[in-house]
Amino acid sequence: MKIMKGLLWAALTLSICAGFALLYLLQPAGKLEQFSAWQYSTKTANANLKVHYFGVSTLLFDDGENQILIDGFFSRPSLAQVMWNKLDSQPALLHKLIQQHQLQRTRAILITHSHYDHTLDLPFLAQQLQHSQIIGSNSSLNIARAAKIAETRLSHVNPAQPLQIGKFKITAIPSQHTPATAINNDLGEQITHPLHLPARFYEFKEGGSFDYYIQHPEQNILVKASTGAIPKQLQHLQVDTLFLGIAQLSKQSTSFQQQYLDETLGTLRPSVVIPIHWDNFFLPLSQTLQFLPRIADHGPRSMQSLIEYAESQNTQVILLDTTTPYPLRQKLHPAS
Ligand SMILES: [Zn+2]
Repeated sequence: MKIMKGLLWAALTLSICAGFALLYLLQPAGKLEQFSAWQYSTKTANANLKVHYFGVSTLLFDDGENQILIDGFFSRPSLAQVMWNKLDSQPALLHKLIQQHQLQRTRAILITHSHYDHTLDLPFLAQQLQHSQIIGSNSSLNIARAAKIAETRLSHVNPAQPLQIGKFKITAIPSQHTPATAINNDLGEQITHPLHLPARFYEFKEGGSFDYYIQHPEQNILVKASTGAIPKQLQHLQVDTLFLGIAQLSKQSTSFQQQYLDETLGTLRPSVVIPIHWDNFFLPLSQTLQFLPRIADHGPRSMQSLIEYAESQNTQVILLDTTTPYPLRQKLHPAS
């Protein structure tokens, strides 16, 4: 009897400890406020070209005439939904955003890779935004195909052939995903058939990763969603503003971090770097962005590494929230 009681107590203590440990791991490792000095907050900036950030690598470029949308992930299901349920878009939320941001002017949706935190809303958006061309890997196009999007609107990424859309010239650049973890160890795997939603998160196979080089009369921009780089891939680009994915940067080895920052920031030496994919995408867009949970990343450390590297070469770091569009003003390049 005494032994039974002892065992019960041990089991209870253990489960309470496990509960606390899990709670701890699901919290972010720091608050965003500690980086408020880098936060962009001017509400009335005038510029011909602006960008609006919506967390992860969802970016809306708008030059007043046309819009280019990167990924377009807005629905952001909770961790519990992702763990236990099939995932789908939230039509009411998307209708509201389409109106609020005049997304009918979107001429292209550029998909960085096929994981659900980049593509979940692609079928719905592709159906609603009738003037948009969808550009991505075959896996990403298969997500759109399930929503019966006309093949004429689907473009397989072709790094050799830039696309001119209004004043935007877009070039896809083969890239690398953040190193695999136990949860996303599907790197290089393909979605070989149209993927019907709702679907479980693991059905959204990575399918290859791409950066997008966007040239516009106002600025040259590179969007790199994932924390991975192919050596020497970016060395001939001229980039004013770099949108740089830093998810799980702090979890990588020191040499990986150094090499990643050398291949991106160090090679491009942009005027401005804007970190992306650092936020907890299990929280809805209606909440202020927060760092990823500890279990996924030590967000403040990843941010600090980026800031130290950037500032050592006089690249300005700008941190965006989801409420304030940021102006991408024309840079005066020295004549060459
Ligand atoms: Zn991914």
